Amino acid sequence: MFKLTQYFSTKATPQSQPMPGTAQLPNSAGGYTWSVDDWVQLDRFLSLGSEGGTYYISERKLSIDNAEALVRCLGTDGPRVIARIVEISDAGRAPKNDPAIFALALAAKLGDEATRKAAYAALPKVCRIGTHLMHFAEYAQAFGGWGRGMRKAVASWFNARPADELALQLVKYQARDGWSTRDLLRLAHPRAASPSHDRLFAWVTKGALPEGAAADPALALLVAKDALARITSAREAANVIRTHRVPREAVPTELLAHAEVWEALLADMPMTAMIRNLATMTRVGLLTPGASATKTVVARLGDNARLAKARIHPVAVLAALLTYKSGRGARGSTTWSPIAQVIDALDAAFYATFKTIEPSGKRLLLALDVSGSMTCGTIAGVPGLTPRVGSAAMALVTAATEQDHTLVGFSAASGGFGGKWGGGESGLTTLAISPRQRLDDVVATINRVPMGGTDCALPMLWATRNKVDVDTFVVYTDNETWAGSVHPAQALRAYREARGIPAKLVVVGMISNGFTIADPNDAGMLDVVGFDTAVPPVISDFARA
Ligand code: CA
Repeated sequence: MFKLTQYFSTKATPQSQPMPGTAQLPNSAGGYTWSVDDWVQLDRFLSLGSEGGTYYISERKLSIDNAEALVRCLGTDGPRVIARIVEISDAGRAPKNDPAIFALALAAKLGDEATRKAAYAALPKVCRIGTHLMHFAEYAQAFGGWGRGMRKAVASWFNARPADELALQLVKYQARDGWSTRDLLRLAHPRAASPSHDRLFAWVTKGALPEGAAADPALALLVAKDALARITSAREAANVIRTHRVPREAVPTELLAHAEVWEALLADMPMTAMIRNLATMTRVGLLTPGASATKTVVARLGDNARLAKARIHPVAVLAALLTYKSGRGARGSTTWSPIAQVIDALDAAFYATFKTIEPSGKRLLLALDVSGSMTCGTIAGVPGLTPRVGSAAMALVTAATEQDHTLVGFSAASGGFGGKWGGGESGLTTLAISPRQRLDDVVATINRVPMGGTDCALPMLWATRNKVDVDTFVVYTDNETWAGSVHPAQALRAYREARGIPAKLVVVGMISNGFTIADPNDAGMLDVVGFDTAVPPVISDFARA
């Protein structure tokens, strides 16, 4: 018999060919996958951005692809785009706010009238601090000039907040990335909402304390900043900082060498700043083992309500943990002795920054794509946080609450499918990582796993061959699968038949490309986005249903 089916079968098609009768298209690795719909791609972009590109796709092309998907979404339903931007940005679900700001700026300039109106109305929700507003101005400039809508929205950003809150913004964020608040005020030209606002605008545009500043309580912070510039004693500076709740940005660099000054800053330090300055506070000698400042820091990191209110993202915590643990700055010139209690507190805070998961109680196979492409690029520009490391961290969040789980890593051997290493299954290995382990150890373990080509069908093939009962496969991947002799969707259907289990598949996209191994016509397969803090509960809910 001539085996025609080796060339044409709906049950086993090599990944280098499209599955017959489907809308599969080539991915960047030469395999065939589905395209995610534009709304899924929008979610991927808002959460993962395009900074740094991927192993296969340049930063430039990835950015253009994402912007084009965004433009198509705007053409379909602009207000829905704005709602989605606000939903993800305002809840702090993404590691970085820039993709949301970019999308908002594009919508504000290129959307229809209803969309533009909604975009400007959403400005204070998405651009919550001065830096965000300057980034918005920079992006918006690429899509058009300063029209009436833009001027009105920016003017209201300054005028709508109480004068003392505005003073804090102006002191903290004077200039960023080629923009300053002075530029913004000059272009928006707001009519001051109050005499205090008027004085604040004058301070920004003239660069000196205006008349009446000393008598205006709303300007107290500006007066304190002015005083600090002339103070050399650390004790005196600490007093001013405490009394006027001065932020670090308003303190002259020379004073920042003193533990006493940092102690005063810590009293009112926002969570984001505290997490970013752990190394500095350790280096200047404020944080030492057993010190009361150390206890303060550890207690704040353990305060879930505080983490949520400050919109602390797990990626920020993970980045802080990896840097702090290393004991040296990115440029290598500064060093410190990390304190174990702080590292442990960061480790716990990482899990606490995800939305609460209600365990499904189902049998989960958490499968990490550990192939070569997953080690390229970084998540949110964090050094060392590759998609591979990021996916391990994401999988542990689910592993920490779902008792019945198995963790495996898959990567076809280099040169193609079917290789063997480490005595494990062909291209697949069980991973010796656990949520009880500290994340820096997990990262080290994951980085030691050998890698090769990609075959996203391996978890299903492995579970079939080894008769492992799985209710839901969760695959963390860039969807650039190519090396397998069957497609992942086919392998899942074969698994369902072989084990008599209506198993599901969740694909956690770790890269903002447009590909997916999930069959859009199969209700048992779901696409979600890696490092969206709302995703772990979604995985458990889908597994439970
Ligand atoms: Ca790969």
